[in-house]
Amino acid sequence: MHYINGEWIDGASEFVVTDPASGEEIGRVADGGAAEATAAVDAADAAFADWSTTTAYQRSEKLYAAWQLMTERHEDLAKLMTSEQGKPIKAARNEVKYAADFLLWYAEEAKRIYGETIPSARADQRFMVMRQAVGVCAAITPWNYPISMLTRKLGPALAAGCTVVLKPAEQTPLCAKAVFEIFDEVGLPPGVVNMVNASDPVPIGDAWLEDDRVRKFTFTGSTEVGKLIGGRASANVKRVSMELGGHAPFIVFDDADPVHAAKGASLVKFLNTGQACISPNRIYVQRSIAEPFLETLTQRVAKMQAGSGFTDGVSIGPLVDEPSVAKVERQVNDAVDKGARVLTGGERLTTDGLDQGNFFAATVLADVTSDMVIHSEETFGPVAPVIIFDDEEDILAKANDTTYGLAAYIYTRDVSRAWRIAEGLRFGIIGINDINPTSAAAPFGGVKESGIGREGGHVGLDEYLDTKLVGWSV
Ligand code: NAP
Repeated sequence: MHYINGEWIDGASEFVVTDPASGEEIGRVADGGAAEATAAVDAADAAFADWSTTTAYQRSEKLYAAWQLMTERHEDLAKLMTSEQGKPIKAARNEVKYAADFLLWYAEEAKRIYGETIPSARADQRFMVMRQAVGVCAAITPWNYPISMLTRKLGPALAAGCTVVLKPAEQTPLCAKAVFEIFDEVGLPPGVVNMVNASDPVPIGDAWLEDDRVRKFTFTGSTEVGKLIGGRASANVKRVSMELGGHAPFIVFDDADPVHAAKGASLVKFLNTGQACISPNRIYVQRSIAEPFLETLTQRVAKMQAGSGFTDGVSIGPLVDEPSVAKVERQVNDAVDKGARVLTGGERLTTDGLDQGNFFAATVLADVTSDMVIHSEETFGPVAPVIIFDDEEDILAKANDTTYGLAAYIYTRDVSRAWRIAEGLRFGIIGINDINPTSAAAPFGGVKESGIGREGGHVGLDEYLDTKLVGWSV
């Protein structure tokens, strides 16, 4: 169902939603097009005048109520996510908590949208700067974090006083519906948030890109689609924020504990079965500690069990669809053909009932070189490519040698080195001996082709606010 102007609306046709672990149908949703996309903008546009002039305290109250409901529904939402997206239930629980954190954080931030006064050179003049909601915002979200990628946009947009039209990913509309049910139940005025589902995203995107009433586009997804949407939105002078792909280096220096670093690499690389934008794609380890690092990493990864996210002990869920398995297989075969060694995994999993889903074994590749596709193309799967390096200057240049710039990780016990490298890395997020540098309170986003703008933290609110100058003669 679509959610437009406070109503749940059926469509003339539907598309099927499947469990990626079993291939079984788990639901059907209305399939929308340009007409629904425009109806959603009609509603959001009509609601904007009232919503943007509610007090920050009223908007905050709604966000608090939404946070409370999401917290109460934590377990049901986690189970829905595991069946629709595939991540192990423990990871799904973590994501629901993370998603709710954005509602809480922006419920608080709504009350801190401050302006400023500026001294003028003229004695009879005063300058005042105010921050106002941008207007109707169009949001497009991916499947890999199917609840938190919505609240990371909806939280700040609503806090700022914007109204929203949103299209979730085709693979995860049920999680999106559950989020919109929460906003419906907390009593947001009709039209403040609207959702359109579609099996073909293009007519939805086109309708919103061409509509003058849409003042901002916020997109999370691949760099390829982001360039398309961002380019067209900018051509129509709409504001744009883009959270796009990544190719994260994970650098382990010889002064680090190789066992601790390998543990960190195994945890962050295989998070969400490698389907995370901040997933390490190039694991660089300094030569003198390469052996114990690889030994620990391989031992840990070899033990990772694949299967349904509901099965105890499973840490490798299914990939989202068959083309994703084919992409991982292609990258691994290319690497092996060019001389990489498979230390564990390296193949599709098709026994013990896994043939019904989209499974690839947790894999460690050694002797990876820069001519291999995996060295430059985002993998989005459970493969850890390891590369040995010799010196610090060389590794900084290598780590930065990518069109992406989202996350990077450093393991070192040398404080000066940590500063040097963190400052030299051209990425938006750096983890120093830390594999989870994310929080609702912190700015998330990339540089270069990984994106424009930030989500989370107080700067996440700026993305939904225009700055207005008032000059005043006294
Ligand atoms: P995607 O193919 O770019 O799709 C993302 C969203 O865009 C989906 O809702 C998709 O709809 C829609 N879309 C695709 N083509 C479109 C078009 N021409 N016009 C309008 N909408 C269009 O990316 P994905 O495979 O879902 O997600 C994986 C990518 O997202 C990875 O590259 C990952 O790194 C990135 N990501 C980045 C962040 C971040 O914060 N930087 C977070 C999560 C994911 P359909 O589902 O209907 O195709």
